Amino acid sequence: MPVQCSSCSEKRAVLKRPKTGHSLCKECFFWTFEEEIHQTIVSAKLFKPGESVGIAASGGKDSTVLAHVMKVLNERYNYGLELMLLSVDEGITGYRDDSLETVKRNQQQYELPLKIVSYEELYGWTMDAIVKQVGLKNNCTFCGVFRRQALDRGAIMLKVGKICTGHNADDVAETVLMNVLRGDIARLRRCTAISTDSENEGVVPRCKPLKYAYEKEIVLYAYFKKLDYFSTECIYSPNAYRGYARTYLKDLESVRPSSIMDVIHSGENLSVREGVKMPVQGTCSRCGYISSQKLCKACVLLEGLNRGLPKLGIGKHHRFHDKILSQQPLTEEEERKLKAVDF
Ligand code: SF4
Ligand code: ZN
Repeated sequence: MPVQCSSCSEKRAVLKRPKTGHSLCKECFFWTFEEEIHQTIVSAKLFKPGESVGIAASGGKDSTVLAHVMKVLNERYNYGLELMLLSVDEGITGYRDDSLETVKRNQQQYELPLKIVSYEELYGWTMDAIVKQVGLKNNCTFCGVFRRQALDRGAIMLKVGKICTGHNADDVAETVLMNVLRGDIARLRRCTAISTDSENEGVVPRCKPLKYAYEKEIVLYAYFKKLDYFSTECIYSPNAYRGYARTYLKDLESVRPSSIMDVIHSGENLSVREGVKMPVQGTCSRCGYISSQKLCKACVLLEGLNRGLPKLGIGKHHRFHDKILSQQPLTEEEERKLKAVDF
């Protein structure tokens, strides 16, 4: 027997909401999904009227849904935001070049300005070239660190006051789990924050309007709205550690759908005991980007690539920062250890 929509009681339900188990028709699902994001935006005061906001757009489902919903809500509720798309081209042939084509179509469909910043122009290295040098084990470390700065630099070029990213509830819950497993207290405290404060000058504040949106619902929304997005995985094997956290979370979700929200709430409610040592934020003495060390991670990784010492930025090698800054040569033994790509 067809099931009625539990919200309007008029139309036939086409889906069961993964987050709540409610049976809904298409229109009621769209409305509920969008309203929840609106509530997230309003209650966390994510934006100010008149603000210009860069939407980090990769062409994937999360950022495509984000761009679509931000446009819908901006018009429906008169947020008064000037929205723009901001993309990073990591230089991954057969992956990012194709997904950027999707972003370019989204730009037309949503009539939003688009800025693409590339690793090649910012750092002189594409991910293709980096993988040739470092292999396939730590490539995501380089990519993640470079992307973070690239988004900031792109946002500064676009003159936007804020960046919003497509991180969803599953991503946040995974990150909580990973930081618990690694014992990374500083990141654990930061990772559930819906927006970064602008205490660090030179860094554009970021926020996550999809923080409470389940990945499964994002997929359903994109599917029923027939949004144009790119669904291929990166050819350079995604982060294995996150993969385990993801599988574990999906297993939990299958027996108890609220697990995702529960993990996020646990992360939000953790407090750090007084006296626990936290890294102190300063700025990189080479590029001025925020860093808790003398050199920021991107500068150290880049130095390693340019010197043919890929291990320089992997792991803890802070003792080399002074040598790098004063351009002192490393000893043969140090060079030998940092050259190896078998890490
Ligand atoms: Fe970059 Fe790794 Fe993501 Fe590929 S999977 S885009 S290499 S971070
Ligand atoms: Zn730097």
